[in-house]
Amino acid sequence: MENCIFCKIINGEIPSNKVYEDEKVLAFKDINPIAPVHILVIPKKHYESIIDIQDNEMEIVAHIHKIINKIADDMNFKEDGFRIVNNCGENAGQEVKHIHYHIIGGKTLNWP
Ligand code: AMP
Ligand code: ZN
Repeated sequence: MENCIFCKIINGEIPSNKVYEDEKVLAFKDINPIAPVHILVIPKKHYESIIDIQDNEMEIVAHIHKIINKIADDMNFKEDGFRIVNNCGENAGQEVKHIHYHIIGGKTLNWP
């Protein structure tokens, strides 16, 4: 989608530090990490948020979670634990309007 920063990362207009890519998703390091591990996983198809993903398209969400497991395994933080965050809309403070799942870890995380 035009003027979407993450679509520009997908098409190579904006560089990123990629950690995983396949035909459906891209994972790259967050430019402003809040923890030693801070990776974003996005579908290559533009959706603004989870609200825009129709029931019959939900397999992309399962695929994203599958890839999060793979990244956690490959990058050796699976056993330590980590957090998956999906900010949706205004009240959650979603800044980039292309759905993304944060993988955050590498240290003990506070909650809430
Ligand atoms: P959110 O508040 O959930 O919309 O998070 C957006 C995230 O995207 C933030 O953690 C930003 O640091 C990150 N971000 C914004 N631009 C870039 C970029 N060009 N490359 C990597 N991460 C980015
Ligand atoms: Zn986009």
